[in-house]
Amino acid sequence: MKSVFLLFLISTLIAYQSYSQKSFHKNKVIAHRGAWKANSYPQNSLASLNQAIALGCEGSEFDVWMTADGVLVVNHDSDFMGMPIETTNYKQLLTKKHENGEKLATVEEYLAEGKKQKGTKLIFEIKPSKISVERSKEIAEKSVLAVKKMKAKKWVDYITFSYEGGLKVIETDPKANVAYLTGDKTPAELKEAGFFGFDYNIGVLKKNPQWIKEAKDLGLTVNSWTVNNEEDMRWLLKMGTDFITTDEPELLLSIID
Ligand code: MG
Repeated sequence: MKSVFLLFLISTLIAYQSYSQKSFHKNKVIAHRGAWKANSYPQNSLASLNQAIALGCEGSEFDVWMTADGVLVVNHDSDFMGMPIETTNYKQLLTKKHENGEKLATVEEYLAEGKKQKGTKLIFEIKPSKISVERSKEIAEKSVLAVKKMKAKKWVDYITFSYEGGLKVIETDPKANVAYLTGDKTPAELKEAGFFGFDYNIGVLKKNPQWIKEAKDLGLTVNSWTVNNEEDMRWLLKMGTDFITTDEPELLLSIID
C-alpha cells in the first residue's frame, strides 16, 4: 500500500514538474513516432509520447489518418492491426488494441495528453489520403480545426508529404507552422507558398546540402528524417539544422548535451 502511495506521489510530482515547465525545450531533438524504441512501446502510443516528454525532447512526432466515418486517429501505418483506417469506421477500429493495451487514440485524446505539459512540442503529421487529394485536404482542414478546438495551437507544428494538404493547413490557419516532407520543392518555392520550413529525408539533404543554407537565409526551418546514426546527426548539427527527427532520441540528446 505504501509503495502504491509513493508511486502516486512520484508520478504526481513528475506531472507537476512537466506542467510547470514554462517554455518548450530547445534541443533540436524530435522523437519520431514518440520515444518507443528503448522501451519497446508501440509507435505513436501515448506511452511513447510520454516517454519523449520524460526524456525532454523538443518535439514528439505522430501520424494522423481519418477513419471512414471522419474521425481523426493517431497511427503510423494506413492500417491498424490489419484494418485499413480510411475505409473502416472508428468503432470497428476500437475492437483491436495496441500491444500495450492502449486503444487507438483520437487526435483529441492525443492532444489532450500532450497538453498536460509545456516542454515538448507535438509534431502533427497529416498523412496523405490514399483515396484522393480532396480527402487529404479535408483531413488537413479538420486537423487544424481539431487543434483549435483543443486549444493546442501553441504545442503543434505540422508536417506533411501532401503539398496540397500543407497548403490547406496554411489557408485554414495562416499562422500555423507547416513543414513539407517530400523533398521535391526548393526552399524558395516553400517560402513563396507560406511554409514554415522543410523536413526532408537525410538522403535528399546530402544530395542538396545548399538547401540548408538557402532555407536559413529565407528564414525557413530545417528538419530531417529519419536520422538514426551519429555521423548523420553530427553532419546536420554542423550544417546548422533546427531539428533532427530520430528513432534514437537518447543518442541525439547525448550528442547535443
Ligand atoms: Mg511520421
